[in-house]
Amino acid sequence: MGANVLVFAERREGSLKRPALEALSAARSAADILGGSVVVLALGSGAAAHAEELGKHGADRLLTAEAPWLDMYVPEAYAATLAAAAGDVDAGLVLVPATSMGKDMAPRVAAALKTGMLSDVTDLEASADGTLRCTRPVFSGKANAIVAIPAARPAVASLRPNVFPVKETGGGAAETGSVEPALAEDKVRVRAVRLEKPAEAELDVAEASVIVSGGRGIKGAENFKLIRELAEPLGAAVGASRAVVDAGWIAHSHQVGQTGKVVSPNLYIACGISGAIQHLAGMSSSKVIVAINKDPEAPIFKIADYGIVGDLFEVVPKLAEAVRNLNS
Ligand SMILES: Cc1cc2nc3c(=O)[nH]c(=O)nc-3n(C[C@H](O)[C@H](O)[C@H](O)COP(=O)(O)OP(=O)(O)OC[C@H]3O[C@@H](n4cnc5c(N)ncnc54)[C@H](O)[C@@H]3O)c2cc1C
Repeated sequence: MGANVLVFAERREGSLKRPALEALSAARSAADILGGSVVVLALGSGAAAHAEELGKHGADRLLTAEAPWLDMYVPEAYAATLAAAAGDVDAGLVLVPATSMGKDMAPRVAAALKTGMLSDVTDLEASADGTLRCTRPVFSGKANAIVAIPAARPAVASLRPNVFPVKETGGGAAETGSVEPALAEDKVRVRAVRLEKPAEAELDVAEASVIVSGGRGIKGAENFKLIRELAEPLGAAVGASRAVVDAGWIAHSHQVGQTGKVVSPNLYIACGISGAIQHLAGMSSSKVIVAINKDPEAPIFKIADYGIVGDLFEVVPKLAEAVRNLNS
């Protein structure tokens, strides 16, 4: 197997998702060291239109299968097509964003290629001798495993969103080519029929670069307005602990943690959240963590970069006001 790196470019409603560009930037860095090319696979109508954007971020080639039935995620067909492309382009490494879609797809691809996979990778190091080393959080984020893949190829890895920086390489449009879906439409056993979006057009915590989260300390569903008043001027998504989701104060789509979403924003503000290990599992890789809690012994302070010991009902409105003043 060669030194080429194959990246799956996740799209939603015709647009590339940011984690795809993150994976592409990581692929470019690895391919430069391994001495290979970066090939991207994008599926669904209009996929070839991304040639310029992908080229600008380091793709040498873009392979597309533009059948309209691939517009929405079709697990078996997507995985089969990516696995087939890995063989066609002689890939040594296949990278998939560790989004909901990527987490579902990457193990299927690894199984089809009869190789191992590394999920939720937060660092990827390639060496000129072809060795790959990946870092991935284990034990709910309490430790990092550094895994070397000396020989087994192709290696499949999913990359945690919001961790790898998006880099522009200044390259021209990627060279395009088309492939056939590796599974015929009539052989597909599972199909998505429609995409249902939440009624409120809210930022998804999994994709946000700033998150303000509320925990049981906010005392009631009605007080999420306080959290939203800080989130809004920051352009932040609203997150939550499981305790408040279980209490029915906010939808599960906002939950951060072991049984919620894993997030890595630039800034995570935890308001009235104690910092249980299951919550930390979802947010400890945030770049800057701010905790607001009235209990100075709350475990969240152990991982916070900035801690405010105080009543959130006083602190949060003051912070919101300060941000609004800064914005104006
Ligand atoms: C299998 C399993 C999976 C789980 N998965 C998740 C998960 O995905 N996500 C998750 O979050 N949890 C998860 N949990 C639950 C987790 O163990 C905790 O119970 C939960 O995170 C606690 O939520 P909390 O911090 O909001 O509440 P609490 O632990 O009750 O903490 C509330 C905090 O608010 C502070 N506070 C109270 N009033 C104020 C005030 N006025 N001003 C400032 N601070 C105040 C308190 O000092 C306290 O620290 C899981 C548990 C299990 C067993």
